[in-house]
Amino acid sequence: MLNKKTVTDIDVASRRVLVRLELNVPLDENRNITDDKRIQTTLPTVRYLIEHRARVIICGHMGRPKGKADPAFSLAPVAKRFAELLPGVSVAFATDVIGENARAAIAAMQDGDVVILENVRFHKEETANDPAFARKLAALADIYVNDAFGSSHRAHASTEGVAHFLPAVAGFLVGKELDVMVGAISRPKRPFVAILGGAKVEDKIGVIVNLLNKVDTLIIGGGMAYTFAKAQGGSIGNSLLDESHVEAALDMLNQAKQKGVNFLLPVDAVAADAFSNDANRRTVDIMSIPDGWIGMDIGPKSIEIFKAAVADAQTVIWNGPMGVFEFKNFAEGTRAVAEALAGSGAVTIIGGGDSASAVRQMGYADKMTHISTGGGATLELLEGRELPGLTALDDK
Ligand code: AMP
Repeated sequence: MLNKKTVTDIDVASRRVLVRLELNVPLDENRNITDDKRIQTTLPTVRYLIEHRARVIICGHMGRPKGKADPAFSLAPVAKRFAELLPGVSVAFATDVIGENARAAIAAMQDGDVVILENVRFHKEETANDPAFARKLAALADIYVNDAFGSSHRAHASTEGVAHFLPAVAGFLVGKELDVMVGAISRPKRPFVAILGGAKVEDKIGVIVNLLNKVDTLIIGGGMAYTFAKAQGGSIGNSLLDESHVEAALDMLNQAKQKGVNFLLPVDAVAADAFSNDANRRTVDIMSIPDGWIGMDIGPKSIEIFKAAVADAQTVIWNGPMGVFEFKNFAEGTRAVAEALAGSGAVTIIGGGDSASAVRQMGYADKMTHISTGGGATLELLEGRELPGLTALDDK
């Protein structure tokens, strides 16, 4: 993985290892975990540390408790699930983070034991990346492991600050994210195709600008596409328009031309007369969407064009749905792109967020090379930015 040390580069036996994980799982009203996928993804690193006889101190956050202890955001249900997933392992829950309870639980640990600390965001110093707080966190352990890829774009005490006070290495999940994504972006097998969709142009400008220097083909779909259609003089009815980024859209089209990047926009759209699954539908030219109609999905001609681009590709990165896929009647474009990726021989990378849930929901997840666990972190990586939580780790 790049040039950062990972857990396999250090000796962890009998050491207290503070592991930052992504523990922000969805709960129902009775605080039962409704989907433990996130916890499952952390297990390779946790099991490795247990098997190598480390004393494993797990920390992470849940929700936004605004810097004070709030039982509604307790990690107790997460600790319970870890205990279920690790039969035969001693798993204890500490009711605080750096307090007496945590220190006593850690002092009582044997090699191979696990202690899960309470929600690190119960301290406002966490998100403020307060060095004194980071130092106290570090004092609980001998080694720091970051395996919370989805939080690594944030410079918080438990993702960045603490790494300055301890030997700091990456876990397996972070390692895989970097290997696959940074590998694909910096040394792609070509043709390299990026597909971007979703609602907001603003969120993706940085990604588009960076990818224009890397890809052979850039495909834009989803709600974003209408701003590009408008920028080229199209009539887009009531479709999503990011008025303040029409100029930026034109600029990106020009940049693509200068750089010789094949920039593909939808040529048709499935439009609706209301923002609803049951609205009337018609397929229209993207440049002439009738007044009052909303472009909700890419149309059949666009699907064919996008599929042809994917068919030739050796590397494909996809972030953002092609339409309002939450409505069954407008999910076809997103489904067709997912199917095209699933059937291609290319390295296929799904960049988190809505496209990851669409791919899972539509049953194509196991056909992809990699589905990223980070939404915001993935976008920042695609923008070519450094993730502070990863930069802070020790170099090899
Ligand atoms: P983002 O968070 O920017 O990736 O956007 C994801 C959201 O974009 C999803 O909730 C989609 O429903 C929405 N979306 C995709 N296409 C459209 C569209 N044509 N009009 C409105 N919203 C859209």
